[in-house]
Amino acid sequence: MKLLTATRERQGEQDGDFCFAVEGELVLLGFVCATDEADPDGGCGCGRAFSGMSSMRATTTALVRELDITYDDLRVAVDGYLVAAGMGPDLLGTAEFAELLEETIEDTVHFARFWPAGAVVGRKLDHVQLRGLPEGYGPRPFSVRDL
Ligand SMILES: [Zn+2]
Repeated sequence: MKLLTATRERQGEQDGDFCFAVEGELVLLGFVCATDEADPDGGCGCGRAFSGMSSMRATTTALVRELDITYDDLRVAVDGYLVAAGMGPDLLGTAEFAELLEETIEDTVHFARFWPAGAVVGRKLDHVQLRGLPEGYGPRPFSVRDL
């Protein structure tokens, strides 16, 4: 399935870009603090960043990749992220955690679905925006048949 992964591609093209995540790791849309909820381009950065599921570190750019992983693999990764982020079943309760887990998995699959593999995307709060298409998706190259 297609999923979003941390990338340094297209870093620096927008003000406030950063990538502290590990290249290639799975990312998701982490929680946004009140500061960034009011101003996603502001000082904190969580409102314009994806969270690395393994490193817990953030990146403002993510690469859409077609990965050979199953829904269950993804569930394990998201589960691990939530527990590490301090939102495990011991804190939230089993039922609420199960709900959050499903929601987060749905979102993670949902946000990668719209773009072809190779596209680079950015985030603004609850929205994922295209930052660049892979080569070959641009304007059609000039051909002698156009003459
Ligand atoms: Zn924040």
